[in-house]
Amino acid sequence: MEDDFISLYPDDKFSFSCTSRLSCFNECCRDLNQYLTPYDILRLKNGLEISSSIFLKTYTSHHTGPETGLPVVTLKTDSASGSICPFVTPSGCRVYRDRPSSCRTYPLARLVSRNRESRKLTEYYMIIKEKHCLGFNDGKEQTVSRWIIEQDIEPYNRMNDMLMEVISLKNQRIPGKLDIKSGYLFRMALYDLDGFRSYLLNDKEAHNTLNESDIKALKWDDTALLVFAFSWVKQNLFCNNIL
Ligand code: SF4
Ligand code: SF4
Repeated sequence: MEDDFISLYPDDKFSFSCTSRLSCFNECCRDLNQYLTPYDILRLKNGLEISSSIFLKTYTSHHTGPETGLPVVTLKTDSASGSICPFVTPSGCRVYRDRPSSCRTYPLARLVSRNRESRKLTEYYMIIKEKHCLGFNDGKEQTVSRWIIEQDIEPYNRMNDMLMEVISLKNQRIPGKLDIKSGYLFRMALYDLDGFRSYLLNDKEAHNTLNESDIKALKWDDTALLVFAFSWVKQNLFCNNIL
């Protein structure tokens, strides 16, 4: 694959249009190695109206990073059929409204760095030109920031930045491999949200750390639960190690 990467900032322009009339329609949904973030899973499982544990079992593969002990979750594909996404149909993506962040952002990819002193984030985008993608021919001119709005990428960026913060804290406090129990709790809290909710509400010790307003929000609001999960992981796995 001959790819060409070009860096872009929010006001930079690029030309691109993706339509079902192009002969490359759905080509980008095969030969896939699709990583999923916790917020990708939240949106997909809610869009499909299934629990996180059923989603993980049915649609994902996961392994543990050998150096970090952190979970790596990817969409399950069948290599015999060309590693096609389980959500692609002849008429396009069947989870389009809740498609993962990298699918939304394509043909851009977001890169973020954080200043150590000020903690300020700087983001920029790479444009990914792949041979099979014809969206650059006669594409509509737009800015990166317009693309972010049109593709509704901002909520994903916000949650993915929280994930990055957790991972960077883990790397500071525990530079090597996480132990098995911490790895399990990390995966449950961030990737299996319904399992985490049930753990918080049913485990006596965990339940005692919650106040009434936490409990109310966490029972019904998955986004609030995930935001809570990011701080819970930071606090319990990488700050006090109380578990
Ligand atoms: S989730 Fe949708 S857009 Fe993303 S690879 Fe699968 S079918 Fe394509
Ligand atoms: S234009 Fe690019 S993104 Fe759109 S369907 Fe074709 S390959 Fe996929």
